Amino acid sequence: MRGTVVASMKVNRQVLIDNSQVFKAMMSSDGHWKETYASTIDMEVDNIPSVEVVLRALHGTMKEELYGASVSFPDVWEIIQFCSYRQIEVLKLKGWFAKWLENALKVKLDHDDLKMLLFPCYTFDHAKGFASMTKTLAYNSAEHTTEYNPTDYRHLHLDGNAIGGLNGARGSMRGKLLRGLFDPVAAFLEAKCDCKANALFAYHIGLSKTGIWPIHDHHKKSVQDILDSPGMINFQCTIPDGACSSCRSRLSSTKVTELRRKILNDFHGLCLDCMTMTKTGDIDSDYWDHDRMHEWDAGCRIQHSQPTWYFSYMGRKTDMKNHQKAMKRAK
Ligand SMILES: [Zn+2]
Ligand SMILES: [Zn+2]
Repeated sequence: MRGTVVASMKVNRQVLIDNSQVFKAMMSSDGHWKETYASTIDMEVDNIPSVEVVLRALHGTMKEELYGASVSFPDVWEIIQFCSYRQIEVLKLKGWFAKWLENALKVKLDHDDLKMLLFPCYTFDHAKGFASMTKTLAYNSAEHTTEYNPTDYRHLHLDGNAIGGLNGARGSMRGKLLRGLFDPVAAFLEAKCDCKANALFAYHIGLSKTGIWPIHDHHKKSVQDILDSPGMINFQCTIPDGACSSCRSRLSSTKVTELRRKILNDFHGLCLDCMTMTKTGDIDSDYWDHDRMHEWDAGCRIQHSQPTWYFSYMGRKTDMKNHQKAMKRAK
């Protein structure tokens, strides 16, 4: 032993052998490790909670406090690292993580917290957490958003293009918002009535009270900021005197109210099932069958719409790469 002993834990030799290739190699009789016949294993680890959580999970002796704040967000990353280093199947801790996350979510989390939890939710296959966090970030981030790794383990990050999918969904909603608000302008421009000029002016006054205005600054606001602006919630245009019925209907709040409702329900977050599973066993059939059947969340653990399927599917870069390789080989 070198250094200082900071913690010691009593473990079952067989449990370690059964759950970790690394421990198995150390303790099997054909191994050349000093641990093979020894009754102690000396591990150099800085982070004690992470080792305790993993070993207790494997032994089925979890302590209540380890579901709570005594395991910090960075500790969760340490757990993933410990499992990966010792070749322990991380999904054996899925149950522990679900309960830990439930407690962590009892406190209001800021964006940095969410960015830090994306990878753990992904790794521990927590579909609900992953969807809800990617949804919140897509609606509430004004700028390109990315995940946050609180450790020095640079190899720990989301697979493929998940962050691209999240930002794609964010950009898509912003585009829908802009189009929805400005599309009616075309109808005024094409109108033949005398009241169109005054009506168009009235429409622009209405627009200027929404969060989309001033237009050159709208990208500094999140989609949620714009949707929640008072002028968007209560969109109102003053109807000019003597306006024709067509202009009156174009100035009504119905379309904007409908647009707001639609965008609020547009994206349900990234779906781990759409990202990681093939539904039909074949990546090409997945694509076309979804398009044909319009059952965007068939077989998924969360309920969701088309944009969630689309951007989750787009997030499958790793699969796409393998797919492209296979295509090349086939040629
Ligand atoms: Zn008119
Ligand atoms: Zn899905």
